[in-house]
Amino acid sequence: MELDDIWQAALGELEVALSKANYTTWFRGTGLVDIVPPEAVISVPSAFVKTWFEKRYDQEILKTLKKLTDGAVTHITYMIGAPLPHQQSNPVHIQTKQHTAPSHTQPSIDLTPPDAMTTLRLRPEYTFDSFIVGSNNRLAYAACQAVAQTPGKMHNPLVVYGGVGLGKTHLVHAIGNALLARDPKLKLLYTSCEDFANDFVQSIQSKKSESFKKKYRSIDVFLVDDIQFLSRKEGTQEEFFHTFNALHQNDRQIVMTSDRIPTAIPDLESRLSSRFGMGMVADIQPPDLETRLAIVQEKATRAGMDVDPDVLSFIAESFISNIRELEGALNKVIAYCQLQGEQPTLDHARRALKDQLGAGAKGATTPSKLIDIVTRHFSITKEEIIGKQRNRKFVRPRHILMYLMRQECGMSYPQVGDALGGKDHTTIMHGSGVIEKELGRDDELREELGNIRATLYAK
Ligand code: ADP
Ligand code: MG
Repeated sequence: MELDDIWQAALGELEVALSKANYTTWFRGTGLVDIVPPEAVISVPSAFVKTWFEKRYDQEILKTLKKLTDGAVTHITYMIGAPLPHQQSNPVHIQTKQHTAPSHTQPSIDLTPPDAMTTLRLRPEYTFDSFIVGSNNRLAYAACQAVAQTPGKMHNPLVVYGGVGLGKTHLVHAIGNALLARDPKLKLLYTSCEDFANDFVQSIQSKKSESFKKKYRSIDVFLVDDIQFLSRKEGTQEEFFHTFNALHQNDRQIVMTSDRIPTAIPDLESRLSSRFGMGMVADIQPPDLETRLAIVQEKATRAGMDVDPDVLSFIAESFISNIRELEGALNKVIAYCQLQGEQPTLDHARRALKDQLGAGAKGATTPSKLIDIVTRHFSITKEEIIGKQRNRKFVRPRHILMYLMRQECGMSYPQVGDALGGKDHTTIMHGSGVIEKELGRDDELREELGNIRATLYAK
């Protein structure tokens, strides 16, 4: 059965199961992109529809697909965008139960895992174009662009590391999308480290080590997401080591992401972590307010929504340490308002996000909490940071505090001045400005701010 046939059959069932109005509203422009048991990938036209499918229709769609694939599908991923052409043409063989088979004309039974290139599933919307660059991710962005321009030459391997939801996967897909746009025949493999590990274990069990080796060692560009997953997996590490060497020796580009700097991955063989550091290691820090604002603006525009700037600011101020959450919040506000048939107002946004505006949100940060954390970070006292001493030991933390009060508490220059013992607003402008300027070129400073923010938003 072709993907298209399966989806048409599913649509037929869903049309019956759902009300007509719901069906026509939501299922227009959707498609079944791929089935890699146990997962099915469905494309939807917008972030808005995606949220609705995930929240409201997931169970219904899953039930239908499960039935049609005889249980092969147990999980659905929704992606925004049109089905990828190379995947559309792939026939998928789905097992059909004997007793439901009316005759020998049933499709062949084949649930073998996909071969090399079908594990490639780049999200078309994750491009360099749709990625907002700020001081928090400039280095990683530039490194990824360099790799996309001259794979195997500039930074090999490239490791991008940073916290959850900060755009690592987006950047790696952007590299893949850019390279394939230039050369569709390029042998590019994108995989999660987890899939690599599973694939490896399976290849041993099914005695297909040779074809595993051939598959991974014959590619031009290897994109591996979340290599922290290698932690404590000795066998996989060994295999990864050989794969890495085979590719690297032949100047094949390798790009990896990790949720922490590779040297901090527990129980990772040192021969691996040292190799990971041979090329370029670039961090992504949590974005500042300005960057967050640019991101929600970009996402709203892409969703075709004209959202009140106040609402966008509110969302950007409220969700700080994870862009996935930021995006989720925007989608939630949009969905909430479309349901009511109104343009989102600040009030709507507050109501729609009521539940999420707890721990991770900005409401949790107060100027006094910030003073507390910054002084502790630099081991100085509150009097010292607020005082007037021009010793660098105090001036630097003072400037950082000013900057963070603006960024994380959304305070005006005069408000920060007041909070810091009645300083003039020009003093605050200067101090905060110094940090802003240096952020772009000072990696250590960015990392320092990242650490302070991490403490601020821990738990
Ligand atoms: P990670 O892999 O680091 O956990 P993702 O790449 O999955 O994070 O990003 C989470 C979401 O946030 C994605 O939808 C991604 O498009 C979005 N995102 C992250 N950073 C940016 C950015 N700088 N500009 C635009 N979108 C971003
Ligand atoms: Mg990721």
